[in-house]
Parts: sequence; C-alpha cells; structure tokens
Amino acid sequence: MVHSIYSNKDSFLREIVSNASDALDKLRIEGLRDKDLDADISDLHIRFTPDSKSRTLTVADNGIGMSRDEVIDLIGTVAKSGTAEVRRKLAEADEATAEDLIGQFGIGFYSTFMVAEKVTLVTRKAGESVGTRWESTGDGTYTVDDVADAPQGTSITLALKDADEDDAVHDYADPAVLRSLVKRYSDFIAWPIRMLGAAPEPEEPADGEEAAEPAAPTDEVLNSQRALWSKSKSEVSDEEYAEFYRHISHAWDEPLETISLHAEGTFEYQALLFLPTQAPFDLFMREKSAGIHLYVKRVLIMEDCAELMPEYLRFVQGVVDASDLSLNVSREILQQDRQIRAIRRRLVKKVVSTIQELADKRPDDYRTFWDNFGRVFKEGLVNDSDNAQAILKASMFASTHSETEPTRLADYVTRMAEGQDVIYYMTGESREQILGSPHLEAFRAKGIEVLLLTDPVDEVWVGAVPEFDGKKLVSIAKGVVDLDGDDAESADEERDAAFAPLLEWMGETLSDDVTEVRTTSRLTDSAACLVGDEFSMTPQLEKLYRASGQPVPHSKRTLELNPDHPLVMKLRDSFGAADDDHSRLESTASLVYASAVLAEGGDLQDPAKIAKLIAAQLTESLS
Ligand code: ADP
Ligand code: MG
Repeated sequence: MVHSIYSNKDSFLREIVSNASDALDKLRIEGLRDKDLDADISDLHIRFTPDSKSRTLTVADNGIGMSRDEVIDLIGTVAKSGTAEVRRKLAEADEATAEDLIGQFGIGFYSTFMVAEKVTLVTRKAGESVGTRWESTGDGTYTVDDVADAPQGTSITLALKDADEDDAVHDYADPAVLRSLVKRYSDFIAWPIRMLGAAPEPEEPADGEEAAEPAAPTDEVLNSQRALWSKSKSEVSDEEYAEFYRHISHAWDEPLETISLHAEGTFEYQALLFLPTQAPFDLFMREKSAGIHLYVKRVLIMEDCAELMPEYLRFVQGVVDASDLSLNVSREILQQDRQIRAIRRRLVKKVVSTIQELADKRPDDYRTFWDNFGRVFKEGLVNDSDNAQAILKASMFASTHSETEPTRLADYVTRMAEGQDVIYYMTGESREQILGSPHLEAFRAKGIEVLLLTDPVDEVWVGAVPEFDGKKLVSIAKGVVDLDGDDAESADEERDAAFAPLLEWMGETLSDDVTEVRTTSRLTDSAACLVGDEFSMTPQLEKLYRASGQPVPHSKRTLELNPDHPLVMKLRDSFGAADDDHSRLESTASLVYASAVLAEGGDLQDPAKIAKLIAAQLTESLS
C-alpha cells in the first residue's frame, strides 16, 4: 500500500463501484426478464480509467444506465432524500459532519464531491437510443444535456482535487492507489473491475525495420470476486464482511453482528446476514425496502426480497443464495414457494436467537441494538406468534426498577416479591405519565416492580402474548388487584358493607361513564382511579385506533375508590346522612370520576361541563 492510512474520503470509490455493480445486476435481471431488450449483456464489467496527466478518474459500467428523467431524479438533487433540508445541512456542515450526513441519508453518489472538483456523468439507459450528460461542481446546481453517441451504461469522470496528505485526499489517478482501494473496499464485487495497465513502450525500430505495432495494453482485473457467503466465517476478515455489508445495505456504519449460515440437505442454501449498528433513516417509513437479496448459484436474481424476512426484522441486511431455485422465478411464485418459506423460518429463528445471544454475551452492543431496533423487533410479538416467547426473551423493557436501564424479563422474574407469581405492567404514553398515574401507588408503596410500556406497539402486543416463562403478564390498570393479601379479607367485608349503598348509588349516577364503582386496595394517595376489565382496551389503545381512522366506541371502565382517602370517607358519611335526596352529591361524584380520568392522563368527554362543576364547587367552598 502506497499510503499507510486509509481515509474516509476513499469511500467515494466504494460508493460508485457499488452503484455500478447494482447497475450491472439490474441489467442482468432485466435481460433475463425481457429477451427482446436491446442491450448487450455478454461482457458486463466495470472499468477504471485513471489519467494522471489530466488528473481525472473515470469509472464506467455497461449496466442498466439511466434515462434523462432518472438522472434528474436520482442524481440531480441529493439523491433519494431529495430534500432541501439535507442539502442545506450539507452546505453548512463541516467536513466530518458532511460525511456523516452523506452516509446517514444514503447519498452515496454525492460522496464523489469529497475528492472531485467537478463530476461528469454520461449515461445511456439499456434500450434507449439517446444518452444524457450531467455535470456539476457539487454546489447544488448542475447541467444536463443530450448525448447522441453515448455508450450503453454509465461513466463517471471525476476531475480530481489535488492529492493532499494532510487532508487525507489520496492520488486517485494513481493505479497503485486504486488497486489497493479495490482490494480493501470492493474485492467481493461480483463483476470484474478492470483497469488498463500501462502499455509497455514500443522499442525504437532499428534502421530499415518497420516500427513495431504498439503492444496492446494489458487488462488487469482488480477484484477477486469472492462470494463471501460461500466462505466459512474463519476465511473472511471482519473488514471484508463490513465492506460487503456496506455494499448491500447502502449504509456507512459497521455491522453489529454477522450471521453466516450454510444449510445442507434437501434444500441447499447459504445465507450471510447482518445486524446494522445504526438505524437507517427510513426504518419507520412505509416504503422501507426489505434488506435481503436473493441469489441463485451466485447470481443475483432479486434485490430486496421481502419474502425472506418478516417485516419486524426489516432491519436485517444480507444475502441468501439458494441453489435449487429457477433463475427467472417471479415474486408471485416466491410467495408460494415451499423452499422459500422453509428458508425464511430458519433465518428468523437464527436472527432471533442471535439477538438473544447478543443480549446474554454483549450487553453494550445489545443495548445499541435495542435502542435502534427494539421498537421494530417488538412488532414480532404481535405478528409472529410462533416465535413470540423467543422474541420476549430477547427483548427488554423499561420498569420501575431503574430509571435508565431497561430490564429483560428473566431479570424481572429474579426480582419478583415473595408470593408474586405474575409480571405486572402498565401501558401509557410516557414514563412520566405512568409514574404519575394512581394505579401505580400501592405497587410503589409495596416495592413491587412494574414494567412501564410506552411504545405504541406495546399496547398491541400485550393483548397478544399472555405470559412469559409460565408467568402471566398482568396490567395494573385492569381487573381487580388485591395487594392486601388474605389476612385483610374479613376487614374488607365489613368495610364493603359500609360502602355498599354509596357505591351502588354512584354506579347509577355515573352509569353513562362507568360500568361499576367499587373500593380498592391499589390506591394509597389518590381518591379514585379507573380500571378496565381484563380484555378491554386501554384509553391509549382507543386513541391509537382513532388516530388511524377507525371508529372506536368510548369504552366504559370501573371506577375504583380508595376507602382510606378522606374525600371518599366524607362522601360515604355525607351519603349516609343525606337520607333519600342525594342530588347535592351528584356533582361531587362527577368530579371524582373526572379527577380519575385526568390523573391517568386521559381526555374528558365533556370538559366544559366539568369546568362548570369545578367553578360551582369552588364558589361554594369560598362562600
Ligand atoms: P443509493 O445507491 O443508496 O441508491 P446513490 O446516491 O449511491 O444512492 O445513488 C443514487 C441512485 O442513482 C442509485 O440508486 C441509482 O438508481 C442511480 N445510479 C447511481 N449510479 C448509477 C450507475 N452507475 N448506473 C445506474 N444508475 C446509477
Ligand atoms: Mg449507492
């Protein structure tokens, strides 16, 4: 290696080689699909032409090419992200941040401007007759012209910045530099990367002899084209894996974990999968593409093969190479294919168990994984019941145990209080909201740990997964809670008798809003709270449904009163003293209900009415 240190800027080459390789893949696939396509697919390759005199580097491919519209669309603006926002950030950013941005937003092509003063792209799309020239100095403007005689494919010519060791710009017109960069970044690329070696100088002709024909320059192939997935893990370096990961995922980060799988037997296939370190910016966008590419005997036949990985593992990147599939298999056929389904089942199990292992053995990396992908991963609890227990095992959740560290369920179980045989949780919009809700009071007082589930998907999966490791998952906002234990039962009975008339009357008075009014042991500080029955929707879930446009009836819940609270005791006494006319207490009953709604962060059905009641009561209390 000429330069001992590789620089970040070198990665522009990986990006344009990666794009060229994609373009060759696409032409190949298109050629298989469309036998009449007017394009030569007999010698697909990438060619480097460095020129140290003019200080240019041209990287050309004879792949699919781009139409004029595609050039404007894909290259014209900062590709894909296309937003003015990113361009503005890019203009303002210092160099290091700019490189981050380039990676983060997948604007791979624009990385050429790290090393080039001007970039000229000439392209002609397979099947079209006129080509397009695009040129820019990377200042946000560009020119586009038609080119009558463009060869099919794409060539990119970089007018190189001067090499500057301080600034880590290498001499990219130097064949030795290019050779070593390909070895490092793009060795596995499946298409040959050729470079014309320097032609040997013809010898001076002796007198009377004809000048010798200049010797043909030799064509050198720079990459070994090794299919990394067919190698065992010990034969491939971490660096090679990382570069391959970056190529297939269009990402710039390191893989967090690499999974290599070689299946033999009835269906033979090889898979190489990666867990990314960083979340891609489109992880939560609808159009997020699947990350698995399907090969048949080392030939890419389908990019982004959604059939091979469920949506909840959409962050997994990789390739599957199956030997027995037909080369021109369609997506429709894939969906029905038994072999594909078997492969997918195996891959899912492997990915989930790998995440579990990560959690067991590399807690810091697992935490990185969880912070980036946990919310997506948990979707599997809803959608993949076969693997739900394994997914739960590999998951972590916030809890009252620690403010900052989420807990795995196995750890929760080891901390369970004596006699506790279920796992308690509460769902809500935020940690603060749940911590402030009355339902938690007695659990806090008794030191019983509660999981705090605040992701929208939590609302859904808790309804789908009833237990973990034989322990029921129980919402503290639902059903009856008896934290007093058996000793208190007789005392309860007496107390209940004293409260019975009030509870019955309140139930009738509030019948539009509640199913029942009862006393509870779950409150210590608050007067009242609302609880659902075991199967009812939480207010948050109702909100989610409404937000997604589905009409949901306002579900009634049970109003629970804290029998030791002064307000509740006074209410009972006033009720007892009031003989038959309880109309004076109606507004108090409504306010107790309203305060229970507010305490859990809920929305009042009729806030104006409640405001009036408050005003009236305040007036009375002040007079
Ligand atoms: P990405 O590769 O992540 O999509 P890039 O900025 O590297 O982002 O490229 C943007 C798009 O430009 C590519 O997706 C591809 O459609 C198009 N493109 C880039 N280079 C080529 C090429 N050599 N041949 C055909 N299309 C290309
Ligand atoms: Mg790219």
